[in-house]
Amino acid sequence: MGCARPLTLSLSVAWATKRSDTEVSLRDESGAQEAAMRDVELYTQLLGLVDPWFVDGVEMSVESKRVDVSVSHHEGRRWPCPTCQAELPLYDHSEERSWRHLDTGGFATYVLAQPPRVKCPDHGVLQVPLPWAEPRSRFTRAFERFAIDVMKETDISGAGNILKASWDECFGIMERAVGRGRARKEHQVPALIGVDEKAARKGHSYLTMVYDITGGTVEYIADDRTQASLNPYFASFTVTERRQITAVAMDMWPAYINSVREHLEDADKKIVFDRFHIMKHMGEAVDTVRKSEHRDLRAEGIETLTGTKYLWLYAERNLPAKHKGPFRVLKALNLKTARAWAVKESLSVLWNYHRLGWATRFYTQWFFWATHSRLKPVIDVAYMIKRHLYGVLNYFSAARITNAAAEGLNSKIQTIKKMAYGFRNREHFKTAIFFHCGGLQLYPATHGEAG
Ligand SMILES: [Zn+2]
Repeated sequence: MGCARPLTLSLSVAWATKRSDTEVSLRDESGAQEAAMRDVELYTQLLGLVDPWFVDGVEMSVESKRVDVSVSHHEGRRWPCPTCQAELPLYDHSEERSWRHLDTGGFATYVLAQPPRVKCPDHGVLQVPLPWAEPRSRFTRAFERFAIDVMKETDISGAGNILKASWDECFGIMERAVGRGRARKEHQVPALIGVDEKAARKGHSYLTMVYDITGGTVEYIADDRTQASLNPYFASFTVTERRQITAVAMDMWPAYINSVREHLEDADKKIVFDRFHIMKHMGEAVDTVRKSEHRDLRAEGIETLTGTKYLWLYAERNLPAKHKGPFRVLKALNLKTARAWAVKESLSVLWNYHRLGWATRFYTQWFFWATHSRLKPVIDVAYMIKRHLYGVLNYFSAARITNAAAEGLNSKIQTIKKMAYGFRNREHFKTAIFFHCGGLQLYPATHGEAG
């Protein structure tokens, strides 16, 4: 990740240009001209301008803490049509525009220019590409690069404070960065993918996401969690390309299963119902048992289970040290919750096996135990696993994949969500996910490359 670097520049003490002659009182005429030359040279370098472009003036206003850098071009050149690259003579100029550039020692700095236009016989009158800014951007490439680095480190409001830019301006840079990154992304289907749902807001609004498990990146985001949410992802690849998918980690969710079956050959050999989701279902079963038992105990004035919700949700190996003692006592009590917890804890051993045969044997014993637990929520999950057993056991034959990538990304996305008070709609949220988790090349092209 990039980090925010304070910008330090050494500037000539006095500034002089053809436009600010009134401000030059500190120096004599020749000194002023010399300083102006240095500033012109400095900004030509900073903006990376090459022929036919040049800086023809630098104007600083102490009062408004602002530096304006005027950029012009030499006459008699030919310019490329932005659409077909045909070299054409200058047609006219657009109105003078300004682009925000990196601050100069705390002074907001702008590039001013009149963009040349060409008249292409095929594409009409169009503005030519400018070396210092992307089309339609109100910022220079250098500023956008810096803004991207800042936004990688903090939320949009915080970035806005650092950059002295509005929320909308920052988000615009983020959005363009993501657009650029996605356009550049190689069209290639990952071999191992994970499909997951994500609550977009509290309540019932969901997003469907596809992860590249190996790369740890978010590849695709769509609204809802229906079959129609996932279908377009697969449809974006040809049948031949889709054959490169060797395994899909996901929850036991009919909509996703149907989509995979519709689009992948041998789908039932490639679907892996992953440990993360299966254990999540078991955790929910334990919690349901706990709630009901807690209610029954409290009715008799017994508070044994008060405040224990999260203890039962930990895997035992992850239990924080301070809870270890009390939890040992708790689980030794003859509680239904402790029984449910033991069944859950035992299931996690399944993924330690290396061979399908041993895993199957273990599962058979576990299933017997779970279904004889006399705990309905546990029995329900056991049967759910049985109905989806092909995909649970594919882990031992298709690919030993888990949605661990998804778990890591999930916590990252959770952070984005927390930072995202300002995300006024889910499109903003999606953009931020791609920005932070898409593994994209976000920076604008550097000087000389086509915008
Ligand atoms: Zn053209």
